[in-house]
Amino acid sequence: MIAAPESTMASRENAYAPDPNLRIWIDGEIVSPAEAKISVFDHGLLYGDGVFEGIRIYNGRIFKDREHIDRLYESAKCLLLDVPMSKEEMSGAMNAAMEANNIIDGYLRVIVTRGVGLLGIAIGHTACPSVIIIAASIQLYPPEVYQRGLRCITAGTLRNHPSSTSPRVKSLNYLNNIMAKAEAKNAGSDEAIMLNSEGHVTEGTGDNLFVVRRGELHTPPPSEGILEGITRRLVMELARKRGYTVAESALIRHDIYVAQECFLTGTAAEIVPVVSLDGRAIGDGKPGPITKDLMQDFIAYRNRV
Ligand code: PMP
Repeated sequence: MIAAPESTMASRENAYAPDPNLRIWIDGEIVSPAEAKISVFDHGLLYGDGVFEGIRIYNGRIFKDREHIDRLYESAKCLLLDVPMSKEEMSGAMNAAMEANNIIDGYLRVIVTRGVGLLGIAIGHTACPSVIIIAASIQLYPPEVYQRGLRCITAGTLRNHPSSTSPRVKSLNYLNNIMAKAEAKNAGSDEAIMLNSEGHVTEGTGDNLFVVRRGELHTPPPSEGILEGITRRLVMELARKRGYTVAESALIRHDIYVAQECFLTGTAAEIVPVVSLDGRAIGDGKPGPITKDLMQDFIAYRNRV
């Protein structure tokens, strides 16, 4: 065996090492990170062939578990991938992963890979799909970002066309989003807004987008090529409870430039204000009052359940 030169290892400043005390649920067993392994022949690795979910745990309870499980199974169905367990078993496994790690507030990553197969892309040759559940603490944006808001750019990398593998499928292929996020970083920005092939706004790289215009909330419909976010759905409900009109509307960048407010929603970020796009201030360049109200409502909601 040829060992990697030590200098290569040492130069990886941001090298991540998983906490050895973590317990990973993998194909029915709970093991250490070192023991949690999949084959190099797994099509999840070879082709990004698989699906996943990111789920929060608040106060020792899995938040919106049913919604996440439903979306996972829908994503899998769309990819002709049979999740090798029932939804009830999946729920039990998620709880087992949470309990094995004593998580009160944290995050679960559920992954279903196509499984081991020949090097070709045909799916008939693959063995049983693998299910992996990783428990983790969550890396939110730092608190000051929620105070000052995100500065965003428009990404040159487009969201997948809805007629290709639909963005509604939460698949293991995140390369467009990864490249768009890298564009934001290279431009000295916090986040990127992705357009579709018609130049319409879709969403952030891992969060859905809302704008406030003339006191009404607008968010792009699924047909524009977005992931139908579970947080998005909840925020639409919370906003309607406050009496706001919420519409699913096709948006172009103009709508963000002239919006009073803009914010992103997602499992990890929750609700995060957006205060500029492409160097242009949105509204007065500060998190807006409706965004702040909804942030409070969201926190109250997730603390209650
Ligand atoms: N869009 C994309 C591309 C995502 O990956 C996610 C999840 N991180 C979201 C939106 C938000 O979805 P949810 O609210 O269900 O986390």
